[in-house]
Amino acid sequence: MTMHQAIAELGHVLGPRLVTARADLEAHGTSESHFPLTPPDAVVYPETAEEVAEIVRHCARLGMPVVGWGVGTSLEGHALAAKGGVAVDFSRMNRVLRVSAEDMDCTVQPGLTRTGLNEALKATGLMFPVDPGADATLGGMAACRASGTTAVRYGTMREQVLGLEVVLASGEVIRTGSRARKSASGYDLTGLFVGSEGTLGLITELTLRLHGQPEAVSTATCAFPSDAAAIDTVIACIQYGLSPARIEYMDAESVAAVNARDGLGLPEAPHLLVEFHGTEAGVAEETARFGELAAEGGAEGFRWSSLPEERSALWKMRHGAYWAIVASRPGARAIVTDLCVPISRMAEAIAETREDIAASGIPGPLVGHVGDGNVHAALLVDPDRPEEWEVATRLAERMADRALRLGGTVTGEHGVGMGKLKHMAAEHGAAWGVMGAIKRALDPAGLLNPGKVVPQDR
Ligand SMILES: Cc1cc2nc3c(=O)[nH]c(=O)nc-3n(C[C@H](O)[C@H](O)[C@H](O)COP(=O)(O)OP(=O)(O)OC[C@H]3O[C@@H](n4cnc5c(N)ncnc54)[C@H](O)[C@@H]3O)c2cc1C
Repeated sequence: MTMHQAIAELGHVLGPRLVTARADLEAHGTSESHFPLTPPDAVVYPETAEEVAEIVRHCARLGMPVVGWGVGTSLEGHALAAKGGVAVDFSRMNRVLRVSAEDMDCTVQPGLTRTGLNEALKATGLMFPVDPGADATLGGMAACRASGTTAVRYGTMREQVLGLEVVLASGEVIRTGSRARKSASGYDLTGLFVGSEGTLGLITELTLRLHGQPEAVSTATCAFPSDAAAIDTVIACIQYGLSPARIEYMDAESVAAVNARDGLGLPEAPHLLVEFHGTEAGVAEETARFGELAAEGGAEGFRWSSLPEERSALWKMRHGAYWAIVASRPGARAIVTDLCVPISRMAEAIAETREDIAASGIPGPLVGHVGDGNVHAALLVDPDRPEEWEVATRLAERMADRALRLGGTVTGEHGVGMGKLKHMAAEHGAAWGVMGAIKRALDPAGLLNPGKVVPQDR
């Protein structure tokens, strides 16, 4: 049977919720990062777990790949249909199914976005903290084991997901985990599916841990004379037992990019952006102590605020930094890198990377969730100059090698997708083969998001 006939058969099951219009295919074949357009052969919009199971069973019978789709903000080509097939768009499965204030947990569908969940939680006094900047779906975030600015205090998706409902490659629907805060009951299948990037199953429901909305929040920013001074302040802050909810670094070039876009007039020097959550007295004390540590590190222009509008302006600027950086070189595409090292090695990682980028001639502003040792460069490449792609690709490879040499990982939060496949053997050795064995056990025909994460040996 041809792919065309196979899709026509699936259309009989889903009616108008199977789409093959070119615009839809292209929208589901586009990555936020540098990967070329890779459209699927069809897009489906299921409304229930049973429908997802039916789609998977149908595709398995016809030998068609199945690729989950949240909102497509992943950065390593994760959601691209590298081998064609059907993109399963979860946007019609976006409901909050249950919230328990007593247990501080909730159950949601995978197509709900993180801001959608927080909007729904507003009146409950609870919040969901994981914040990757982009308004990603909770299914996509669990699939990528996403984190972001608040991981330093609240952890990543791995710490928030208590349980899942998953459709396996066979079409069987399973539940993993429970609503209990801890369990010693067998293999940690929830942990296995979190971060599996849609290669082991499609998530159709998530039970998530929630947190109390803090009584008080304060933010602070300051400029440092050097990257090393900023990073030393981060280390001092953590060693002194301060507990920032966010502690973000922007290098001088990133600050210049947001200045140029938003007219902020910030000093074009390395910056730390910090946020504290807690009681009024607690955040005042932590903010003041942070100010002292920053001053000892030579910081200038220390500014702090507990006003919601000023705080949200600050994080809007930080979350928009990626777009400001891309706009700083008109027409450029970005290769986004994601190294993560023990924080004691971060200053070294940043210094070596900066030197390497400077020698390459490619612009590559750096930002990072430095409380976790996580740093990103956006390498800005002229898409019409293949020699620049080559140089930037080599730079990104050296960043990954550097992360491993310094005891870290080639991806702190973005995940593997297609872009990081080439580093997996170096990072994991024989353990990567174990990941391949798990994949073969759960998806013997290799139909779930093929071409991603595991060794490509079929
Ligand atoms: C400007 C910008 C900043 C970013 N900053 C951060 C950051 O700070 N931290 C961070 O962690 N990430 C960051 N990201 C990356 C991105 O937001 C995350 O990877 C996010 O988790 C992807 O969610 P999504 O809904 O867009 O998923 P998609 O991109 O649509 O899909 C991602 C992967 O999940 C799979 N998938 C989607 N839904 C399901 C499902 N229901 N079941 C099984 N598999 C599924 C897909 O097949 C794909 O493999 C950033 C991205 C951008 C554009």
